[in-house]
Amino acid sequence: MQENHFNQDFFQFLQGSPTPFHAVSSMAGKLRDAGFHQVSETEPWTLAPGNSYFIIRDNGALAAFTLAAKDYQDQGFRILGTHTDSPALQLKPLAGKTSHSFFQLGVEVYGGPLLATWFDRDLSIAGRVVCTTTDNSLSTLLVDFKRPVAIIPSLAINLDREANNGRAINKQNELTPIFSQITGADALNFSSILAEQINKEYPDTQVAAIMGFDLFCYDCQPPSFLGLGNEFIMGSRLDNLLSCFVGITAMTETRADNNRLLICYNHEEIGSITAAGAQGSFLHSILKRIIPDSVSRHRALRGSFFISMDNAHGVHPNFSDKSDPEHMPLLNHGPVLKTNANQRYATTSVSSAIYKTIAAEAGVVTQNFVMRNDMACGSTIGPHTAAILGIPTVDVGAPTLAMHSIREMTGSHDPFLLYKTINRFLTRDHLPQTNG
Ligand SMILES: [Zn+2]
Repeated sequence: MQENHFNQDFFQFLQGSPTPFHAVSSMAGKLRDAGFHQVSETEPWTLAPGNSYFIIRDNGALAAFTLAAKDYQDQGFRILGTHTDSPALQLKPLAGKTSHSFFQLGVEVYGGPLLATWFDRDLSIAGRVVCTTTDNSLSTLLVDFKRPVAIIPSLAINLDREANNGRAINKQNELTPIFSQITGADALNFSSILAEQINKEYPDTQVAAIMGFDLFCYDCQPPSFLGLGNEFIMGSRLDNLLSCFVGITAMTETRADNNRLLICYNHEEIGSITAAGAQGSFLHSILKRIIPDSVSRHRALRGSFFISMDNAHGVHPNFSDKSDPEHMPLLNHGPVLKTNANQRYATTSVSSAIYKTIAAEAGVVTQNFVMRNDMACGSTIGPHTAAILGIPTVDVGAPTLAMHSIREMTGSHDPFLLYKTINRFLTRDHLPQTNG
């Protein structure tokens, strides 16, 4: 696959994935096209060697795996892990409210967005809705308004002379998007608006009542190249849909006879302790069903290798004092290996050596990141998985700027460099071994 084609597909994936539910639905489509069979956690499984399967949990998490053609229960897995969620503004259950002729939507803050970047953007709304239909059954549907329908306007500087001097944002009072203007005496009702949107997207579904929803605001601006030589990519949710796209492309495009698995968790941005999160049972329960015998499974897990993919902090030219002077990842210079003495990242000297061997064989340079000692270090899904399953793990990701902004930035070569490395990981005959 060529980088050009890869980036075009990536932009399409980003635009079609405004929420974790849409990202999972986009990935499921790609897996079906590539011949993966969907299996359900509530049904018995009959797995056949050499075949490929996928499972969706709670609409927002997905796992896909391919089994080796022979003795798959005696072999380790090459595992890729990512997360589908991004920081955002999520609608409250009773979202609609009226103020000074405006109809507004109450929101909660999901995860840790850079809130200032959410002002003055053309916002749309998308997510999951549960409704009853006229035959009285419950139905879960994905909706996406697709066009700008909401905005959080800034307060004019004339009304706040301190606006440029580090003004704090009150999350309860100042983040409520404007959704419409009320004309005449008619009050607006958000449930009716939602039912109308469902009828537009699903003409055959007759909604009786809206029973619940997980809806998010998102930025309508499509991803784009930027820079004199198109050397950068700008877009929403690069953290961590970039890694989801790399993972799903590698799983569907590469061919080799081995055990491999991709797990895309939801809820990383809010701590991962959920049924669809990395601290939940999802991966473990799948592996138990693939290899039911506990000793064989334990042996397979210890013979597995896990690449936890999540974006990394590139050095910011205006804030380079926020990076450790010896560890300053550059955009377009290769995926970043993340290390932390306190194991906030799961990388060890052994797993790092194995990863670097694979990357070098793919012709890809590895950059290194550690957080400064005088700043708090973030974390990823890597340490949870390493701890729960005992699989050797590395934390790796594309270097980015503006992480958790509504519009993030990476290099236009970075997604493909990560893909090349992952491709080598999935197709190498055997993984590099150490004598440890
Ligand atoms: Zn992330």
